[in-house]
Amino acid sequence: MPGCCVPSCKNSSAKRYLMKHFPRNPEIRAQWTLNIPRPNWIPTTYSCICEVWFILI
Ligand SMILES: [Zn+2]
Repeated sequence: MPGCCVPSCKNSSAKRYLMKHFPRNPEIRAQWTLNIPRPNWIPTTYSCICEVWFILI
């Protein structure tokens, strides 16, 4: 599983963080994207965020 897609965040499942895939639902995915400080970026189905950011979202 890839690392966290949030810039400056180096967490990954290898570091025992819980990683979450972006949802397939376009509306929910758009909302997640808005909460991630990464401009001009479109998440894919394979993008992951760690639990640290998931709490914020
Ligand atoms: Zn992260």
